[in-house]
Formats: sequence, C-alpha cells, structure tokens
Amino acid sequence: MKNNGTEQKSLLDEIAYLKRLNKELISQVYQDDFSKFPWLGNLGQWFWDCQKNIVTFNPLKASALGYSQDEVPAETGFEFFTEKLHPEDYDAVMDEMRAHLKGLVPVWEVKYRIQAKDGSWKVFYDRGKVTQWSADHKPLFLAGNVFDITEDENQKRELLHKSTFWRARAEIDSLTKLYTRAALNEKLSSIHQYSLLNKKNYSILLLDIDHFKNINDTYGHLVGDQVLNRIGPVLRSNIREVDIAARYGGEEFLIIFPNLASENARIIGERIQQSLKNTDFPIKHALTVSAGIASNHEKQDLVELLELADERLYHAKHTGRNRIVYS
Ligand code: GH3
Ligand code: MG
Ligand code: MG
Repeated sequence: MKNNGTEQKSLLDEIAYLKRLNKELISQVYQDDFSKFPWLGNLGQWFWDCQKNIVTFNPLKASALGYSQDEVPAETGFEFFTEKLHPEDYDAVMDEMRAHLKGLVPVWEVKYRIQAKDGSWKVFYDRGKVTQWSADHKPLFLAGNVFDITEDENQKRELLHKSTFWRARAEIDSLTKLYTRAALNEKLSSIHQYSLLNKKNYSILLLDIDHFKNINDTYGHLVGDQVLNRIGPVLRSNIREVDIAARYGGEEFLIIFPNLASENARIIGERIQQSLKNTDFPIKHALTVSAGIASNHEKQDLVELLELADERLYHAKHTGRNRIVYS
C-alpha cells in the first residue's frame, strides 16, 4: 500500500497531466475549427468553470487584447477580462450574466468595449451559455465564443457619420441654412396628406427677391450670396416652430404654414417684409421681396396649389413688386 506522500504526488501528477491534455485538446479543437472555417479567424473560444472561477480560452481572446500567453495568469478568473470592460458597459455585461446563470435568459449574449494592453478600446461580441448544471440546478460550467468586431464597429460608426453628414447636406441648403427643395418636397407632401385626412387648413408662401439680378450685376455675385445668406435667419426668425422655410430656387423661397389660413400667413409675410427693411444688407438700396400665398382650401391638388401661389407671385411682380398677393 502506497503511503500518503506517494499518493498525493501521483494525484498531483495526474492533475498536471489532465491540465496539459486539456490545454492540448483546446488547442486541437481550435486548430481543427480554424482549418474548417477560415472565417473563424477573429474568434476566441472560452470555457468558464464558474464553481472554481477558472477561465480557459484559446490564445485569440487574450492576443486580441495585446497579451501574450505568458502574460496571462496560469489560472485566469473572469476578472482578468471584466476588469478591462468599459465602465459604461460593465453593468450590462454583468447583469446579463447574472440573468443567464439564474436561468432567466437562455443564452448570454453581449457586445462590449474592452481595453487592450496598449490602452486602445476593442469591441467584442460575446456569446456563451451554461453547458453543465448540478443536480440541484446550479451552473457549473459555461462555454462560449467571442468575436473581435472592432473593425466592423469602426466602419459602422464611420458610415453612420458619413450618412448623417450627407443627409444634412441634402436637406439643408449651405448658403441660407434653410431646407433644400428636396427636403421641402417631402415635408410638403406629408403636410398636404395629413391636412387632407384631418381636414386641416394650411398655407404656402412663395417669396422671390425683387430685382436680384441687379444686385449681382451691381455688386457682384459674392455680395449676392451674402444677401441670400442673410435672408435665411430673417425668414427663420419670423416663422413659428412648426413652419418650414426652404430655399426653393436661386433667390426664391417657400414657406409652409401648417394649420394656418391665408390671412394669417399674410401677416407673417408682412412681418418678413418689415424685418428685411430693418436688416443690414451689403447694398445701398432697400431690399424688397414679392410673394404669393395660397391655401389648401382653395386647391386640394398639391400641384395646383403650388401653381396658384406661383400665379399670385407673378401677379405681385407685375403689379409693382414689394407686395404680397393672397387672393
Ligand atoms: P424679379 O424682380 O423679376 O424677380 O427680378 P430678378 O432679377 O430677381 O429675377 P431674375 O429671375 O431675372 O434673376 C434672378 C437672379 O438670381 C439670376 C441669378 O443669377 C441669380 N441667382 C440665382 N441663384 C443665385 C445664387 O446662389 N447666388 C447669386 N449671387 N445669385 C443667384
Ligand atoms: Mg427675383
Ligand atoms: Mg426668381
């Protein structure tokens, strides 16, 4: 019969052997999967003995964070990873894990930012689940996969940034900071539909600068641009929050007044005329505008409504300019 010392040594040898075997098997599984599925290139598999808190993982999970195998403690607890989580993501990651360990969610599935050794932030997508439960329903062992999705996330962020930029460019006129004609058309057709369905009144005001060509001819195109640039804030400051002002063409503007009859739109139009009188433009003579107003109770068809406003603007131009025609 062996004495206690020998027995202990053989047990320790056995454990050491099992650990080596375990490491080898994980490495084999990883190599095997990787050769079968090349897209697994950015995948890290992990296993967590949650009773002993020992995490075993393939090298990628640590190397993605800039750690070599030697820098990872021989027995790694989950804290090795969780202490590197972004503070804003920490609670969500832990809450999800608690919910999964209680059996409330079938799979632990999280996306989080995690700090690499060099201080940079990576984004990991991590999925795992309990693979062994004790007889009294306690979680014993979990297995999971983690993807380094930093590149994808960066690209996504860049695309989002670009699309926000281009959307703003398409919607807002850079010279006047008013809506573009394209943005206005969309808004106009939805306000038109809404007003039709809900039997609401709305008005439009089509406004054109008088003798603008003279300004360009006398002072040059750049001064013409400065005038247009100053018109934007004048229009915006005289309309309500719900109204929509757009640059409709070169020196032509269209304002939509939801829920407003022509007479009230005219009052706002006159306020704009007054404001323009008081605005300091880089030209010697007074800047005046002409406008035509039309309301959806006069024309139910949107194209006809726009034509009516245009006819009235034309009428204003041909009856002396610096006027608003609304009936
Ligand atoms: P009316 O009183 O009949 O409206 O005369 P007008 O001179 O304002 O009208 P017309 O349509 O003959 O000329 C408009 C001018 O606006 C012609 C065009 O060169 C100028 N214009 C259009 N867009 C811009 C722009 O972005 N910048 C500058 N500086 N001028 C522009
Ligand atoms: Mg004009
Ligand atoms: Mg014009």
